[in-house]
Amino acid sequence: MNKRPSILIVDDEVSNIEILSAVLEEDHDIYFATSGDEALEIARSALPDLILLDVLMPGTDGYEVCARLKGDALLADVPVIFTTALGDQEAEVKGLTLGAIDYIHKPISPVIVRARVRNHLEMKRLRDDLAKMAVTDALTGLGNRRRLEKALNVETARLAASGGLLSVIILDIDFFKRFNDLYGHTAGDRCLTMVAAALNRAVHHASDLTIRYGGEEFACVLPETQHEDAMVIAQGIRERVEALSIPHSGSDVAPTVSVSVGVATAPCVPGASPEAWIRAADKQLYLAKAAGRNVVSGTTFEAPVATSAENLRPVSSSAWTAGSEV
Ligand code: GH3
Ligand code: MG
Ligand code: MG
Repeated sequence: MNKRPSILIVDDEVSNIEILSAVLEEDHDIYFATSGDEALEIARSALPDLILLDVLMPGTDGYEVCARLKGDALLADVPVIFTTALGDQEAEVKGLTLGAIDYIHKPISPVIVRARVRNHLEMKRLRDDLAKMAVTDALTGLGNRRRLEKALNVETARLAASGGLLSVIILDIDFFKRFNDLYGHTAGDRCLTMVAAALNRAVHHASDLTIRYGGEEFACVLPETQHEDAMVIAQGIRERVEALSIPHSGSDVAPTVSVSVGVATAPCVPGASPEAWIRAADKQLYLAKAAGRNVVSGTTFEAPVATSAENLRPVSSSAWTAGSEV
């Protein structure tokens, strides 16, 4: 069942909150705050779907609350509707410029409040759905490549503060072209969905991310995971795919569908490129294929740091003396 949308009503006059609440409480969960600071605190903990915000309040006024909401990555997408007795255009323009989505004038008209709130909530729902679709693979429901890139950027930056370990797994179905040729594209799609489900069952932490990286390639991002643990998970993935027992008479390595798996682990350091993990895991995947397929290959590595000084230094001939490693 879909949960009811939640609305945070902010007004220093309790009677105004009561009026708005009476209009909206039938279809929405209502939170309320009587000051700007309280509004910011509740917004952060409750993450409402929409905020009705009074402009004139003592202390932190509505404009400042709006500006701070829009500057907070967690809350920037929550639609803000200003509620104000002010009728002048200038005030309205200021609020809209700060990122508010609409204005409602007091004294309020219940039908107008209901209609505007409904429309803005519907738009927010559509926006949220679109944002989710943009990072989801339609066939398997796993994250897509864009999701992987975002997650790697966030995790490498977050873990760099503590030098925490990041492990990345990349896997690829063996002889999948032959599988499609033998059993058809629809069976191929079904196989991809089953491998995706096996992948999801093999990872356990809420922070672990599973991705469809390309056609028949998948990836896992495992923050704060030691190499040995990542290798155990990778073996688990390989075994779970084997246990699916999907017949594959075209495979040279097994009678059923199998995967080759590459694993790479490195401590995160400031300035390291997230791509280093992909490159290292991809190289291990290549080695797993070369070793005969249906195996796991892994490595630890040091992510290279591109300092700005290095980027600026001109390439001199002395850097290329024989035998030197650059
Ligand atoms: P290897 O063991 O070296 O990985 O060989 P392979 O045949 O698996 O690799 P190759 O890259 O030659 O072929 C991958 C195949 O995956 C080609 C393509 O037909 C299939 N494929 C890619 N995306 C999809 C998809 O969305 N659905 C289906 N059914 N097949 C796909
Ligand atoms: Mg393949
Ligand atoms: Mg491939």
